[in-house]
Amino acid sequence: MASSNALEIGSLLAGGHHTLRVDERVKLEPFEGWSFPEPARVQLSVRLAHRLIEVAGTVDVLARGSCDRCLGDVKQPMHIEVDERLEPESAQDAPLSETNVLVGSRLDIADLTRQLVDSTATFAVLCSPDCSGLCQYCGQNKNDGACTCARES
Ligand SMILES: [Zn+2]
Ligand SMILES: [Zn+2]
Repeated sequence: MASSNALEIGSLLAGGHHTLRVDERVKLEPFEGWSFPEPARVQLSVRLAHRLIEVAGTVDVLARGSCDRCLGDVKQPMHIEVDERLEPESAQDAPLSETNVLVGSRLDIADLTRQLVDSTATFAVLCSPDCSGLCQYCGQNKNDGACTCARES
């Protein structure tokens, strides 16, 4: 099988007024310091709305990485609300689109999920927004308390 995460939406493109449900697991490659030990849970409804393919639902995945400041383990659950509208291809000509999410009547759930997660997780990897990081002199994790270098001057 080329892709197990493709959804055939020919029936929608033909003018169907039903909703297709997606409940899949999508494996994600590591990127930008994040890795994804378990596949993302993707729950979507897909329907035709005003000649556009409307994709709505949620993507949930646990992202893991090392904190950019203290190198500690970071586990961050990502919850993405999906509300996308995709334009079906009108002609045979391949559009100069950078995405392959929707090609013909084939909606690539895996590619869509990757793009959503990529655009959500571009921020730095931090164990917490106010992580104090490591002491630049002794290397102690300042989240665990002040080190001996941190005397008042
Ligand atoms: Zn940290
Ligand atoms: Zn120190």
